[in-house]
Amino acid sequence: MTKQFVTDLAVFGGPPAFTEVLHVGRPNIGDRDRLLARIDEMLDRRWLTNHGPFVAELEAKLAAFLGVKHVIAMCNGTVALEIAARALGLNGEVIVPAFTFVATAHALQWQEITPVFCDVDPQTHLLDPARVEAMITPRTSGIVGVHLWGQPCNVDALAEIAQRRGLRLLYDAAHAFACSRDQRMIGNFGDAEVFSFHATKFFNTFEGGAVATNDDDLAQRIRLMQNFGFTGLDTVVYIGVNGKMSEVSAAMGLTGLEGLDTFVAANRRNYDCYAAALAGVPGLRMLRYDRQEHQNYQYIVLEVDEAAGISRDVLVRVLHAENVRARRYFYPGVHRMEPYRSYFPHAGLLLPVTERLAGQVLVLPTGTAVSPDDIAQIAQLIAFAVANGPAISRELNRLEKSAA
Ligand SMILES: *Cc1c(COP(=O)(O)O)cnc(C)c1O
Repeated sequence: MTKQFVTDLAVFGGPPAFTEVLHVGRPNIGDRDRLLARIDEMLDRRWLTNHGPFVAELEAKLAAFLGVKHVIAMCNGTVALEIAARALGLNGEVIVPAFTFVATAHALQWQEITPVFCDVDPQTHLLDPARVEAMITPRTSGIVGVHLWGQPCNVDALAEIAQRRGLRLLYDAAHAFACSRDQRMIGNFGDAEVFSFHATKFFNTFEGGAVATNDDDLAQRIRLMQNFGFTGLDTVVYIGVNGKMSEVSAAMGLTGLEGLDTFVAANRRNYDCYAAALAGVPGLRMLRYDRQEHQNYQYIVLEVDEAAGISRDVLVRVLHAENVRARRYFYPGVHRMEPYRSYFPHAGLLLPVTERLAGQVLVLPTGTAVSPDDIAQIAQLIAFAVANGPAISRELNRLEKSAA
């Protein structure tokens, strides 16, 4: 239903545009029969975890898909980051962006490695190599780049800095499965790269993740650490944890791999729909992907600036009332979350771009559960809200005053 007046908006009591809630990161699910057949096979075999045949098959298929020597499947992306950081010998300080999911920093701080927050590029939202260089101190042991929204970091510049300054280079590639840089798949850069296969990610294994690397020794250390340091039935040679992926997760992964082209096609179609429908709306900038590269198009990212005449937060409120669960990413910024905001209360002074983005970025629903018709309606709502921004904000203020 088209909104004619501001008071038709659900935030003011009108009927919501959608009866069912539209989410960001609703899981992509592959062929159900294939999945159930695999689960049957697994139950018949009574091999549920500990590097079973599905995990071995998934690791081999992922390595072939990414064109990388080693893929180690993990129980989730966060533990994969922790193990990779430890296997790389990271300590002291590590340079990371603050415009990321909190797990990037937590994986370091959990092992008492200090994340040093670095600002990002205003166009791409990716770690700014020039600023990385400025954050290096004698305590710095490495850099963790984040391939945000599936876009590759400036891998050449970061590799050059790491090489010249003797630092390790790890990538948080949680967003970047099935993405490339100069046609080379993400998974091949830095010392190692870490994927998340969480349910909300482009490709999921319910919970899960993986480390990809071309370094034989590093892969060996990561395998030991992921399985308590066992080298034989009764031999432990290393301190380790439990980072193993279970067979049911690998079954989901194998099924998802067969559906990958369908997932990308749906996401790409949705991205094109959003781009066309939002093109003329003032004050909105939609993040554009490089069409020459492999991309998963998993994130529809908008920046809402002053020219929109409506703040990002009011727009989110309007959309939520219509049952469109747009999300503020990465709000309020990792440096403003605990424990970092207590440790580094002034970090924001060095992060002007991150601060602005945390106040302006909005992520919209997409994936196989969202249709072009849904997107046409969402775009219409956004355009309507932007066209009536001042009136909406006035009305919200008036309601709040009268409620107080
Ligand atoms: C999802 C995510 C993680 C954590 O992965 P999990 O599998 O949920 O543990 C880490 N970093 C980024 C950037 C993420 O988006």
